[in-house]
Amino acid sequence: MLPDNSKSHTRRKFINKVSAVALGSMLFGSYANARQDKKREVMNTKRTAGKLGIALVGLGKYSGGQLAPALQETEHCFLAGIVTGTPEKAKDWKSKYDIPDGNIYNYENFASIKDNPAIDIIYVVLPNALHAEYVIKAAAAGKHVICEKPMAINVEECDRMIDACKKTGVMLSIGYRLHFEPHTQEMIRLSKDKVVGKVKKIIAKDGMSKVEGWRLNKALAGGGPLMDVGIYCVQGACYVSGMDPIAVKAKEGPKTKPEMFRDIEQSLSWEMEFPDGTIAACESSYAEDMNLLHVDAEKGWFELSPAYSYRGITGKTSEGKIDLPGVTQQAGQMDDFAMAIKDKRATPVPGEMGRRDLKILMAIYKAMDSGQRVEIS
Ligand code: NAD
Repeated sequence: MLPDNSKSHTRRKFINKVSAVALGSMLFGSYANARQDKKREVMNTKRTAGKLGIALVGLGKYSGGQLAPALQETEHCFLAGIVTGTPEKAKDWKSKYDIPDGNIYNYENFASIKDNPAIDIIYVVLPNALHAEYVIKAAAAGKHVICEKPMAINVEECDRMIDACKKTGVMLSIGYRLHFEPHTQEMIRLSKDKVVGKVKKIIAKDGMSKVEGWRLNKALAGGGPLMDVGIYCVQGACYVSGMDPIAVKAKEGPKTKPEMFRDIEQSLSWEMEFPDGTIAACESSYAEDMNLLHVDAEKGWFELSPAYSYRGITGKTSEGKIDLPGVTQQAGQMDDFAMAIKDKRATPVPGEMGRRDLKILMAIYKAMDSGQRVEIS
């Protein structure tokens, strides 16, 4: 039997040994971590070199489902930061997209983004009624801005947003992704080049049968399906005709669920009249799935259906199929804006286009409420 003191000596030796192993593995661990961090830093620098940093404001379905994935494909910009009111989302996004703590903001400290040189562009992806406030704040922070559609909930807000961006010398664009989509470009070409003659009539329909949350609340959405998806019909008619409408007529209905659509329309149909006499007959709904852009011309027709989806846009003409590849529209849209900033050229989807569309939407609501033809000046 060993005397007590040798027992404690053995224990001490054992503890020393264990401590040495623990220290070794700690040192190795921190060395390995440092190497890992360095490797990540090098990879991030490579991934982001020469690109503009985008911060997404509002991490809802569109940011999470479309914009963040598209930002993994972009060549001229990357997902540099986020603005969210939900700490759990910040944690998830940080680990999923490797976003540094210094580039994570909430709505309270949003203004301090002005001091962050890693953020070049702020992308506002909030409910419609919050667009104006955050675009104006982004402009005040000296950052270029992308604002989701609809640009705002009235024309006066659009004016304030455009003025704020002009005042601080930042660029403003609207998230009109379809301008960067090949089938849409082909529709514009077919019309412009009068491939099957001059355009006579346009039919545009966009609707969805499932809707929830802030989209049903007029104070946050500014209106019903017209503001949300009908805006694509307005856009379609304008880019295909290459003109702005001079007058509109509109009719609300049908409304089969008045308890759900208390202060917004459930569905509507409207007509847009263009300066050369071309008519666009449009429909939008929160009760029916519809997705069409059809054009009748003098010697034939051409159409997309679906016409406004994120993917799977399909087209045909009276002469045959429109055979073009699908693209990640949001990647093209954000890359084009980043290049416009770098090249100091105009964006094809500026705030002024968002404002034009709000003017048309407001005229459609006025025509719907009054039952009268409303002229757009
Ligand atoms: P969503 O409801 O999924 O996300 C909205 C986000 O805003 C959420 O993260 C929510 O937490 C946040 N938020 C902050 N303040 C809020 C408030 N007061 N009330 C409600 N939410 C608040 O909506 P979404 O579908 O991502 O739409 C966001 C914007 O993007 C809208 O303007 C919409 O029109 C637009 N959008 C555009 C496209 C497109 O194809 N370009 C597609 C979908 C949505």
